[in-house]
Amino acid sequence: MNVTLTDRIRQAMALAATLITMNTLAADVSWQGRADQYLALVNEGYQALYRVESEAQWAAATDVSPVNDAAAETAGKARAAFMGNPGMIREARALLEHRGQLSPLSVRQLERVLLIAAEGPMTNPELDNARIKAETQQASTMNSFTFQLRGQTITPNEIDGLLNTSTNLAERRAVWEASKQSGPALKPGLVKLQGLRNAVARELGFADYFALQVASYGMTTAEMLKMQQEFMRELRPLYLQLHTWVKYELAKKYGQPVPQRIPAHWLNNRWSQNWVGIVSAASLDDRFKGRSPEWIVKTAEQFFTGIGMDPLPDTFWTRSDLYPVKPGETRKKNTHASCWHVDLGRDIRSLMSVEANTQWFETTHHELGHGYYFMAYTRPEVPPLLRIGANPAFHEGMGELISLACGQVPYLKTVGVLPADYQADEIAFLLNDALANTVPFIFWSSGTMTHWEADLYASQLDPAQWNARWWSYVRDFQGVEPPSERSEEFCDAATKTHINDNPAYYYSYAIATVLKFQFHDYLARKVLKQPLQSCNYAGQREAGAFLRRLMAKGGTEDWRQVLRETTGEDLSTRAMMEYFKPLMEWLRKQNAGRPIGWE
Ligand code: ASP
Ligand code: ZN
Repeated sequence: MNVTLTDRIRQAMALAATLITMNTLAADVSWQGRADQYLALVNEGYQALYRVESEAQWAAATDVSPVNDAAAETAGKARAAFMGNPGMIREARALLEHRGQLSPLSVRQLERVLLIAAEGPMTNPELDNARIKAETQQASTMNSFTFQLRGQTITPNEIDGLLNTSTNLAERRAVWEASKQSGPALKPGLVKLQGLRNAVARELGFADYFALQVASYGMTTAEMLKMQQEFMRELRPLYLQLHTWVKYELAKKYGQPVPQRIPAHWLNNRWSQNWVGIVSAASLDDRFKGRSPEWIVKTAEQFFTGIGMDPLPDTFWTRSDLYPVKPGETRKKNTHASCWHVDLGRDIRSLMSVEANTQWFETTHHELGHGYYFMAYTRPEVPPLLRIGANPAFHEGMGELISLACGQVPYLKTVGVLPADYQADEIAFLLNDALANTVPFIFWSSGTMTHWEADLYASQLDPAQWNARWWSYVRDFQGVEPPSERSEEFCDAATKTHINDNPAYYYSYAIATVLKFQFHDYLARKVLKQPLQSCNYAGQREAGAFLRRLMAKGGTEDWRQVLRETTGEDLSTRAMMEYFKPLMEWLRKQNAGRPIGWE
């Protein structure tokens, strides 16, 4: 059945592409006219099949089962049969050879067609089918994985909960080790995908899968790595101060000697990516007690309606999957938060497991940032092919900006998380912002994740070296070490969601983190005229108008141009460094006399 469907789409597409070519040649249509006809067809088909595939993937991610996996696989093949059709690729290439005679909007769409085609080129259907099968299998293994602690099942939310609260190092270590159990189960699939993803990317002439992904920024792998290294070079002095302060603090907390590098199980995050829960004077954990998860999601929506945006579509509330699976239900679902533009139209959904705590408060604001980005560019002027962020980091950056905004003390007072007369310890909040959301995250995202995935794809890193390479990056970039040697029987990289289902993408989060400070800096200074570190977006319609203008463009303009137009600046850590300037001074005093760093 699925072979027939895919074959039919493939044949229909080849026919359609040939007809367009013949038609336009015969009628002596201009290149622009030919592009218009072609793009009208592609946009229609793309949107229709995107929807079919999203629906199938949504079912597979919210209810893992062999039936749903099979349907997702079929839908993936159907979309590839259309978008990766050789006839379609040929026509896009032919048109791009005359780009000088085409509108910039057509050129952008055609380039996008080729990038999408490169993800599933039907120049080699067997290869692509093998990849889609392996992708679906990997997602299923990950989403249905059950973690065990001392013989009992433990959910990811429970793992995070224990790491956030336990002060017993032996228990922390056991929980941390439990969180790495999925690695060995995921390694064989990832070995397969390493080869398949690279082979797919090579079909249309990309050097490897990493090169294909960074092409959506108009960059090469070398340029992307250089950009990430530059972020780390600029932020290193601040990171070393934070790292030093934290290891002294944690050594005191656990009654241990001060280590050189921080043991991973001392930190509350499974990957040491966000150093949450260290600054007790900025802790909000108690503030969410007695609140409902529903309140969290509604409050996040109000952030947006308050700045002048429309409410979420009704179907968001009826179709999303927002809360943890109820006790007694046997269904397994993906536990990592995401937001979906199911039909590239008004069907917007979020998949989360919201509980009433700080982490989900921020995450929910982040996810709705994606949702409002979808809504802003869903308009007739933006063709479905370009209903994307200016680049992937802009999308993440919008989410990140909103989670920065929702952590500002005056905003927390407005929504009642903090009482109106709350006297905030300003340095504590700034320190927490740096640790929990920003600076260690850069060394994890620009450093460990990006470099390891570049090795995986661009250098075809031998699976016998995966774990050693992973931990050498964690040690060198993050200054963190495992509680004990992690041999190659483990595959700790694969315990991170994105390594499996969002490959060669993670630098986008680093860029997003840099961008969020640029957007915030502009908004606080120029639009809201409020202090950078204590800025309330609530009810500020001008802030909403600024964000809407930015988001409504979707992918219709080059991201560098959008950034310059909206903030007057190029991509830069300047705004981030300025934001944390008062903190740097404070840290230097606190760390006076301590050896800084781990070398
Ligand atoms: N915050 C990012 C996300 O939305 C990165 C992460 O969770 O690791 O996926
Ligand atoms: Zn996101």
